[in-house]
Amino acid sequence: MYTLEIIPGLYQITVRYTNMFLITERSLTLIDAGFRGSMPYVFETIHKLGREPAEIGLVILTHNHLDHTGGLDELRTLASPRVAAHRADVHIPEDTIPYPGGNYIGKLLKTPVFSRLRRHLVLDGDSIDIKLEGGETFDILGGLQIVPVPGHTPGSISLYFPVHKILVVGDALAKRRNVVFMPRKTVSTDLKEAANSLRKIAGMEVKILLFGHGRPITVDPQGSLKRLAEKLGVVQKE
Ligand SMILES: [Zn+2]
Repeated sequence: MYTLEIIPGLYQITVRYTNMFLITERSLTLIDAGFRGSMPYVFETIHKLGREPAEIGLVILTHNHLDHTGGLDELRTLASPRVAAHRADVHIPEDTIPYPGGNYIGKLLKTPVFSRLRRHLVLDGDSIDIKLEGGETFDILGGLQIVPVPGHTPGSISLYFPVHKILVVGDALAKRRNVVFMPRKTVSTDLKEAANSLRKIAGMEVKILLFGHGRPITVDPQGSLKRLAEKLGVVQKE
């Protein structure tokens, strides 16, 4: 577990190799909620900053995977935030789930024996207050834009802060050391779509790249994005 100050007012909080991001303005905003069991550390961090968990007014989820949504119930014990996620990750048909092989597993989970498991794997749509389409802006850190980046899940989003040129990419991309990779096939629903999303991301001006897992890339993130995009042939080599 560790906390990094990315810029004043923006913190990366990492628990069990999964990142959450805390924005401390008049109200607190949390990006992703980590695994179940992550919140005690998040609360401790908030207290260390002289704030209260009850000040969390908004949670934005990058996607509907249990390592990013699992802490929501614990969070609600101390705060009553509005929760935002992309529509495509919220309105999931009863017979599928946003994981590879989702149709098969989804059908299995519909059977009475497994139906209780479903609520651990998939967020209940009723618990989401703001269903995003993409393109929305929030008045957070000088402006926050919601960028749809489907592929890892149908409703994956990245969060872009144009004033600071910071991109929270979520799990739309992965990293090892300082190199950017495509998300792993075994946990992504559509890699072709993910490659289209990479094209979009590679065209953005980014100075700090933040991931769902791993430390930030602060040295030439745009170069890393471009190299991956060129390697996959989604952008032309210059
Ligand atoms: Zn994921």
